[in-house]
Amino acid sequence: MTNPLVDTFDRVHDNLRISVTDRCNIRCFYCMPEDDVKYMPREEILSFEELERFARVAVSLGVTKLRITGGEPLVRKDLPLLISKLAGIPGVTDIALTTNGVLLAKHAQALYDAGLRRLNIHLDTLDRERFLRITRRDDLDKVLEGIAVAQRLGFGPMKINAVAVKNLLEPDLVPLARFGRENGIEIRFIEFMPLDAQGIWARNSVLTASEMIETLSREIAPLVEIPDGDPRAPATEYRFADGIGRVGFIASVSRPFCLNCNRIRLTSDGKLRYCLFAIEETDIKTLLRNGAPDEEIAATIRATVHQKWIGHEINSSQFVAPPRPMYAIGG
Ligand code: SAM
Ligand code: SF4
Repeated sequence: MTNPLVDTFDRVHDNLRISVTDRCNIRCFYCMPEDDVKYMPREEILSFEELERFARVAVSLGVTKLRITGGEPLVRKDLPLLISKLAGIPGVTDIALTTNGVLLAKHAQALYDAGLRRLNIHLDTLDRERFLRITRRDDLDKVLEGIAVAQRLGFGPMKINAVAVKNLLEPDLVPLARFGRENGIEIRFIEFMPLDAQGIWARNSVLTASEMIETLSREIAPLVEIPDGDPRAPATEYRFADGIGRVGFIASVSRPFCLNCNRIRLTSDGKLRYCLFAIEETDIKTLLRNGAPDEEIAATIRATVHQKWIGHEINSSQFVAPPRPMYAIGG
């Protein structure tokens, strides 16, 4: 067994997020601009063979968990084929997909057949008008159908991601949590992060985990922290005291969890990032396309992890937002 991927703060990295596209079929305002989206030229996007090769090298260094993301990963043609290639790499113990769910009903069976079970579906509201306002597309019914189809097929555990923007998400908090309780789905509320393409993020636009916990505890049932969760998972999990359902909070802004971070990220154009908020990135695509041997790619992954900083500084005056917005990094 080779040495694990450890950074200078003794954090072991076993989790790789792979973005398969920067394209998206909706336009969430906290991620993408409404018009004139600048997509990467197609030839810059890594092929399935390149993605699989990179994943194999990363797995040889101790990565065991893979998450496919984007942009919207389901707009990438033949995605189930990539999933089955990745699921077949010896050493991969967990593979998950983050999707906005719009194309899920169409592709759920093929994804299931390819070996995928874990799904995070992004949904901020159950109200059609509000969905349209947030995503600038009228696709709520498709997302709800996708969730229902995935449940019928037996995907699980399934989670719903909602972005917690202040003065926006409040009316959806309780309905989403109730929807999760009724359908056996954990809702994960993600604090709004400064990764939007239009530069609208501000500290006072974040609906914090503690504000949400207070509201849900008051309106539904008291929330009780689940202490024995994975300490390296980004979400803090809570159960409702009445025994029905649970929710999670990804409090990246109000309670950063950088000290437990185990993740690296590959962008769809082949750049390796040690942090969502990293300014610098490592060019893997050139190595892959210029015939670099696996050993050189492995050494480059190690060197990138070695450069990793202690954490983002969203809460400091020195914070600088990364040059890529969320859809071009892969959340
Ligand atoms: N399109 C897929 C989706 O929406 O789930 C995958 C990519 S998306 C960039 C990944 C996740 O990032 C989404 O689930 C969304 O909740 C989250 N996200 C996007 N912009 C965000 C922001 N500015 N702050 C916090 N989370 C954000
Ligand atoms: Fe698309 Fe996901 Fe960004 Fe929304 S959050 S615009 S669904 S990439």
